[in-house]
Amino acid sequence: MRLAIPRETAPREQRVSLTPDTVAKLVKSGFQAVVEAGAGIAAGHTDEAYQKAGATVSNGFAACVSGAQAVFKVREPSADEVAAIPEGALLLGLLGRGEDAEQMARYRARRLGVFSLNALPRISRAQKMDALSSMAACAGYKAVLLAANSSGKFFPLMMTAAGTVAPSRVFVLGAGVAGLQAIATARRLGAVVEAFDVRPAVKEEVQSLGAAFVDMPIGDAGVGAGGYAKELDEQRNEQIRQTIAGRLANTDVVISTASIPGKRAPLLLPAASVALMKPGSVIVDLAAESGGNCALTKPGAIIVEHHVSIHGPLDIAATLPTHASQMYARNLYELIVHLAKDAKLNVDFADEITRGCCLTYEGRAANELTAVGKTA
Ligand code: NAD
Repeated sequence: MRLAIPRETAPREQRVSLTPDTVAKLVKSGFQAVVEAGAGIAAGHTDEAYQKAGATVSNGFAACVSGAQAVFKVREPSADEVAAIPEGALLLGLLGRGEDAEQMARYRARRLGVFSLNALPRISRAQKMDALSSMAACAGYKAVLLAANSSGKFFPLMMTAAGTVAPSRVFVLGAGVAGLQAIATARRLGAVVEAFDVRPAVKEEVQSLGAAFVDMPIGDAGVGAGGYAKELDEQRNEQIRQTIAGRLANTDVVISTASIPGKRAPLLLPAASVALMKPGSVIVDLAAESGGNCALTKPGAIIVEHHVSIHGPLDIAATLPTHASQMYARNLYELIVHLAKDAKLNVDFADEITRGCCLTYEGRAANELTAVGKTA
C-alpha cells in the first residue's frame, strides 16, 4: 500500500503530516511511502531524513500522490490537489466535519475515502489518534509564550538586589486540553494562576496543576454530552461575565480557550471588561477561530485597545511545527494502522472510530454509510 506525504501549502502552515520516524515504522510494517520534496523542512526534517526512513522523494504534489492508496495531509487539499489524488484513495487529515459542501462534492466525485481527525470520537480507545488534543496542547503552551513575550512583566516572583518583583497573575478561561496546558505552562514560568470552566469536574485538575479554581454558582448547567460544555442561558452567561470582570483589575494576562463544539465561542470578555484591565495587560484569545471569547478580538491579528494587547492567533499549533508534527504524525500513524493494519485495508464501518471520522467513502457521504455490513 503506497502512502503519499505531500508538502502543505496552506498559508502559515509549517507542519508535516508524517515525520521520518513514523514513515520508518510504516515502511517496516509493509507500506511504501513517497514524500514531496521539502515537505518536512519547516518542521525540521530534510528530504534525506525521509529517504533514510525508507521513503522516496518526488517533486510536486501530483508526482507525490500519483499511484498512492492513501494521502496524508495536515490541512485540507485545494480543489486542484483533490483532482490529482487517485480515484478511490484514502485521504487522512484535519479535514473538518463536512461543513464545506463543495469540498465534500469534490471528495465524492473522486470516490475518496476521507477520514478527518476533526470528527474523531473523543473516546478512550481513540485517544492515541486524537489530533485535536495534540494540537490543543501545542496551542495552550504557545499561547502562554505569546503572552509572556507581549507582557512588560516577569512571570515569576523575582527577589533581586533591585527589590522584589511580584509574579504575574494569569487567568485562564476554559480548562479543557488547551486551558490545562496553558495553566501548566504559566505555572512553570512562575506565574500565579487561576482558572474557570463551566464544567465543575475540571476543578480538581486545575488545582492539581497548582492553580486556583474560580467557583461560580452555576452547578452542572454548563455540562453537555460527552464531557463537553453546553451553552448557558443569558442570565448565567452574564453572571459569569460579571464574576470574571470582578477579577480583571488584578489580572496581568488572560488566556481564553472557552469553546462549545459546533457553536460560536461564548463571549466572556466584553469591551467594558477589557477596559478594567491595567495598562500593559495581555489577552490571548485562543477562541479567535470560532468568534473569540473577547468582543474586541480580531482573528489573526494583535490589536491594542484600552492599552491592553489582544491577540487572536490562528493556526497557532503550526507555529510549533516540530513537536506539533511529531504529535500529529503519531496520531495519523495510529489512524492508518487502525484502517489498514500491516498495509492491508480493512475499513469497517461497524467500528465507532472508523464510522465517526469518515466524511466520504466510495462516492457516498458519511450519513449514507451504515453501521453494519459495510466492510471494504
Ligand atoms: P473545547 O475546546 O471544546 O472547550 C474548551 C473548554 O472551554 C472546555 O473545557 C469547556 O468546558 C470550556 N467552556 C465552554 N464554555 C465555557 C464558558 N462559558 N466559560 C468557561 N469555560 C467554558 O474542549 P476540549 O479541550 O476539546 O475538551 C473538552 C472535554 O473533552 C474535556 O473534558 C476533555 O478532557 C475531554 N476530552 C476527552 C478525550 C478522550 O476521552 N479521548 C480526549 C480529549 C478531550
